[in-house]
Amino acid sequence: MNNIFKKFPFTITLNGGFSGSWFASGAKSSGYSPVDGRVLPEVTVNTSDDLGRIVTQCHETFPVWRKVPAPARGQIVREYGEEIRKYKEPLAQIITMEMGKPMRESLGEVQEVIDICDFAVGLSRQIGGPSLPSERKSHRMFEQWHPLGTIGVISAFNFPMAVWAWNMAIGMICGNTVLWKPSSKTPICAIVLTRIMEEILRKNNLPTAICSLVTGSGAAIGNMISSDERISMVSYTGSTNIGRQLGKIVQERFGKLILELGGNNASIVTSNADIDIALRSIYFGALGTAGQRCTSTRRVIIHEKIYDQLLSKLTDTYRKVKIGDPFESKNFLGPLVDRSAVKAMQNALVQVRKEGGKILYGGEKLSEKGGCYITPAIVVVSGNLPVVKEETFAPILYVMKFRELDEAISIHNDVPQGLSSSIITNNICESERFISECGSDCGIANVNTTTNGAEIGGAFGGEKATGGGRESGSDSWKGYMRRQTCTINYSGTIELAQGIQLDF
Ligand code: NAD
Repeated sequence: MNNIFKKFPFTITLNGGFSGSWFASGAKSSGYSPVDGRVLPEVTVNTSDDLGRIVTQCHETFPVWRKVPAPARGQIVREYGEEIRKYKEPLAQIITMEMGKPMRESLGEVQEVIDICDFAVGLSRQIGGPSLPSERKSHRMFEQWHPLGTIGVISAFNFPMAVWAWNMAIGMICGNTVLWKPSSKTPICAIVLTRIMEEILRKNNLPTAICSLVTGSGAAIGNMISSDERISMVSYTGSTNIGRQLGKIVQERFGKLILELGGNNASIVTSNADIDIALRSIYFGALGTAGQRCTSTRRVIIHEKIYDQLLSKLTDTYRKVKIGDPFESKNFLGPLVDRSAVKAMQNALVQVRKEGGKILYGGEKLSEKGGCYITPAIVVVSGNLPVVKEETFAPILYVMKFRELDEAISIHNDVPQGLSSSIITNNICESERFISECGSDCGIANVNTTTNGAEIGGAFGGEKATGGGRESGSDSWKGYMRRQTCTINYSGTIELAQGIQLDF
C-alpha cells in the first residue's frame, strides 16, 4: 500500500479524522486485505470526543460555504473531479487492496466518482424551483431551495469511494458541509479521497472543514452522528437492520434522512428472452463485486419452457468463472470482503438446505487461495423461502421457475426489499407490464439488462425495506436542500388568499 501512496504528490498520514487538520486520538486499527491476507497499514481511529470536535468545525464552516454562489461551489467539485482523473489507477488499486473488488470494477467505481462530479458541476447552475401563478393580483409566487447545513454521510464497504462521492458532489454544490463516516472496513479509501479534497479547498482559500472525515466504530460514531442535532441530514448507506434503528433516531429529532439499504434483486427471464442476453445479465448481475453490490442479482425467475436450457448454460458458465487475485485481469471473481462474509455465505447455504433448497453448484471455501475466496453458488428453490427473503451479501443465486408472467411478478415482489429488478424478454407487452404500476415494485426496473451497474444520471434508490431514499442523478439533489415557497406582494394593498376579507 505504501508504494501506492507514493503515486500521490502529498503525504498521507493515517490519522482517521479530518476537520481542518488531521487528528485521531483513538486506537490504532489495522485490517487485512482480502486479496492475500496481508496486514494493511494501521489507521488511528477517532473517539467520541474527536467526533464532537469534528462536528463543531464542520458545522461552524457551514455559514461560510453556504454564501459561496452555487456555480462557484460547482467549480470546486469540477477541480476535484479533474484531480481524481489524474489518480484513477492508484485510487482503484486502493479499493481493490482494501476490499477486494476486481480492478476492472474498481476503475469503474473511480469513474463513477468522476462522473458524479461532472454531473454536479452542471447541476450547480440548475438548482432552482418553479415560478407559480398566484391567485392574487400583483403577487408573485415561486419556490426556491436553500442548503441544509452539515450532512452526515455514513457509507458501506462495498462502494468505498462512489457512495460518498454521490453525496459529497451533490451535497457540496447544494451548499452543505459534508461529514463522512466510512465503513470501518475501508478507512484508507476515505482518508485518501478526503486528502485530495483538502488540497483543492486549500488551493482555493476555502475552509478545509467543508469536507470532514471521522473514522471509528460504526455503532458508537454512527449513533452519535444520528443523534447530533447539528447534523441536519443523515445519508445512510448500509444494511436494513442498522438503517431501521438509525432512521428512528434521526426522525425522533426531525432530522432529514436518506436511507439506502439492502436489496434482494431479481431478474425474470421469460420464454421470449434472448438466452445469451439473459446469461450475460445474470452472470454480471450475480457475480460482479462477488455478489456484494446492493443491486446484485440474488434471484432469477425463469419461464418453465427455457428453464432447463438456461439453468444448464448458467451452471456451465459458473464452472468456468476464473476466481482469484482481483489485481489479475484474467480473474472475474475476487474474494469476499472478509472471513465473516464467507461465514455468512456458508451459514445461508446451511439454512437453505434445511429449508428444502438444493445447491446445484458452488458454495465452497477455496482455502488454498486464502481466507476469503469462495465458489459462487447456484441454488434451486421452489419459491421465496425464509432464507431467500433475507439479503445475504455474497454470490448466492436462487433459481425459481414460473408459468405465467403475473405469477413471476408476484414471486418477484414477495420480498421485503425493493431496490432493483429486471426482465429479460423481447416481447414488448411483457416488458411494459413489468415496468407498469402492476409490475416490479422496485426503485429500479430494467429491461434486457442487469439489475446492477446503474448510471449516475438517474435517481438511485429503492422502496420498502430498501428505505425509500434517492441519491445521485435526476432530482435527487432536492434531498440535500430545504424548499422555501415565497409570495411577493407588489400590489400596494393587502389581499388575502382564499378571498378572506380584512374588516379594518
Ligand atoms: P453495514 O450496515 O454493516 O455498515 C454500513 C455503515 O454503517 C458502516 O459505515 C458502519 O460502520 C456503519 N454502522 C454500523 N453500525 C452502526 C450504527 N449502529 N449506527 C450507525 N452506523 C452504523 O453495511 P455493510 O456491510 O458495510 O454494507 C452492506 C450493506 O449495505 C448491504 O445491506 C447492502 O445492500 C447495503 N448497501 C445499500 C446500498 C444502496 O444504495 N441501497 C448501496 C451499498 C450498500
